[in-house]
Amino acid sequence: MSDTANNPNRKSWIPVEKDSDFPIQNIPFGVFLTRDDVITIGTRIGNTAIDLGALHQLGYFNDIPLTDDIFLQDTLNDFISDGKKTWRLVRNRIAKIFDEKNESLKNNKEHRKIVLFTLDEIEMQLPVQIGDYTDFYSSKEHATNVGTMFRDPDNALLPNWLHIPVGYHGRSSTIVPSEIPIRRPMGQTMPAGASEPVFGSSKLVDFELEMAFITTDANLMGEPIPIEEAEEYIFGLVLFNDWSARDIQKWEYVPLGPFLAKNFASSISPWIVTLDALEPFRVESPKQDPEPLPYLKYEGKKSFDIHLEVDLAPENGTPQTITKSNFKYMYWNMAQQLAHHTINGCKVNSGDMMGSGTISGPTPDSYGSMLELTWRGEKPLKMNDGSERKFINDGDTVSMRGYCENDQVRIGFGEVSNKLLPPFNPKKNKK
Ligand code: CA
Repeated sequence: MSDTANNPNRKSWIPVEKDSDFPIQNIPFGVFLTRDDVITIGTRIGNTAIDLGALHQLGYFNDIPLTDDIFLQDTLNDFISDGKKTWRLVRNRIAKIFDEKNESLKNNKEHRKIVLFTLDEIEMQLPVQIGDYTDFYSSKEHATNVGTMFRDPDNALLPNWLHIPVGYHGRSSTIVPSEIPIRRPMGQTMPAGASEPVFGSSKLVDFELEMAFITTDANLMGEPIPIEEAEEYIFGLVLFNDWSARDIQKWEYVPLGPFLAKNFASSISPWIVTLDALEPFRVESPKQDPEPLPYLKYEGKKSFDIHLEVDLAPENGTPQTITKSNFKYMYWNMAQQLAHHTINGCKVNSGDMMGSGTISGPTPDSYGSMLELTWRGEKPLKMNDGSERKFINDGDTVSMRGYCENDQVRIGFGEVSNKLLPPFNPKKNKK
């Protein structure tokens, strides 16, 4: 079935600013709370949020096979479970309803009042109930930088790295949407030169610039997903900030990998941009040498040209851009990650989330974490207000943005923006 929603010439009767991330060619999916305290599944064109539950009740999706309550839910999991054919039918229909030439909803004032919201009338929620969360480690530049700092510059990549999309299982319980503040975590660290560990708040809180993809029900336990089918099971992507406590991480990560240094918080942009919407922005992935094993070999363009940037804003200060990277730098692509994840028969469900790993580019101004940007704190960043940053301070806000652009259309992700709060204080923070 053709993907008519991507038609770059289509215009909407909903106003869209020139540099908007959300033209009618995007049609992302999210979950929001409305002014009437109703939770619903929706989409967005320009700065207008659209209640898909209400649209469905009013009959605008009538001839598409959907259950009556598919959009009247607090997560997208069931809709994602319906599979790619349904996602396409719905996206194509939304494009048609909001096409400037279509007058049915455009000229129905009563319906418009029920269906459309301004952004200040809604509150974005987590779009899916995340069953399982996996984080990969798929940027060669990032893995090389970290290996150089923490182990050995001559052997920065461990022997498995060029053969396996390395990953680990994280926790989904502390993944939050944009705008939710994050608390500086407490934990155990081994200060430099000390012989005993100490307990206290992390001194080295960091961001990790990542993207995450969200899957549909993909396979039965015991059955791998072949690489050539993998993209069929990817619903879409969000921006992903994998908050990290570097001092806790350094002390705890041997031998089993990250644990409490990572699971205190990760945050995501609330609109899921579908893989379909990203189609025009496919690019080649970096050449892989050595050649991967046959189950990881792929054909065609499996990466996407997504510009990424991170702003840091001190409390009451103005944001400044501290890095610019791109999703296309990833050495291992999403199809390889999903094929590898399931090659042993591991089951993937609707609403699972897979982080890319920190996406660092080749140059120091494209690194995806403070750890790399300041090289472990040795080269602090200069802020516009005269202060310096080695890592994230209490009161700082970290904002990530991502967008694709060609001469016809811009498809963006909006942002994930969260403030870092001081550590939890049991006396002060009593409920
Ligand atoms: Ca990570």
